[in-house]
Amino acid sequence: MGGRLEGRVALVTGASRGIGRAIAEAFGREGARVALFARSKQDLEKVAATISGGETLALSGDVTRARDVAGAVERVLTQWGRIDILVNNAGVGHFAPLSDLTEEQWDHMMAVNLKGPFLCTKAVWPIFVRQKGGHVVNISSVAGTTTMEGGAGYSATKWGLRAVTDTLIKEAKPHKIKVSIIGPGSVDTYFNDKEPGQRPSYALQPADVAQVALDIVSAPPGVIINEVIMRPLVPPTR
Ligand code: NAP
Repeated sequence: MGGRLEGRVALVTGASRGIGRAIAEAFGREGARVALFARSKQDLEKVAATISGGETLALSGDVTRARDVAGAVERVLTQWGRIDILVNNAGVGHFAPLSDLTEEQWDHMMAVNLKGPFLCTKAVWPIFVRQKGGHVVNISSVAGTTTMEGGAGYSATKWGLRAVTDTLIKEAKPHKIKVSIIGPGSVDTYFNDKEPGQRPSYALQPADVAQVALDIVSAPPGVIINEVIMRPLVPPTR
């Protein structure tokens, strides 16, 4: 029997590790053809080799560069003739009280977390409109619905991504395009200069987020799951 994403083509940004890697693997297991996009070609090729189900493409590039994004989208179209799912996952975080946050850190987060999804979505949009269908899944954060000390810049990007998502949901419906956002709490990845295993044991796993992404993109054709916020069950107060 075919997988839940048989016949569909997905482009996942930030797929070389962490959440993006888990999403690419989950989509591949369900039969999707998956294009993996991030800067580190070697890591992408390693991940692509672990995907058992469908075909893969490892595309190196930077989501903040329009040329890289356009090149990646072009490659996917040349290879597979369509794109059904874009996962805007690539993201970075710098955390410090606002007075200590550097301009470079601020600009870096704005560029990767906000401009990246803007450029990637803009690049696939005409394809989705032409196909009369497609799905944009944005990876935000709990920090995209709440704030915490030290997170002003990061939260600004994720609240911004929420505003972009909310607007797009409205612009997308007439074209039968779905738009969704996932806001995870702490996930055990390399994010914020950590290594897997360094977060508290209760942190979410990348596969938990991938499971939700898979459920969202395999919802029935007439159903849009617009937003999911997901937290670890502990600690009890956050
Ligand atoms: P991660 O393990 O550090 O992975 C980040 C990914 O983004 C890597 O594949 C990285 O690959 C890619 N990336 C970074 N800059 C890029 C750029 N300019 N162009 C293309 N790709 C780029 O982090 P993660 O936890 O999986 O984060 C994924 C998403 O989840 C982010 O949007 C993050 O904000 C969000 N999130 C994370 C957590 C958490 O606690 N981990 C919680 C909530 C939300 P290269 O370095 O090779 O480019």
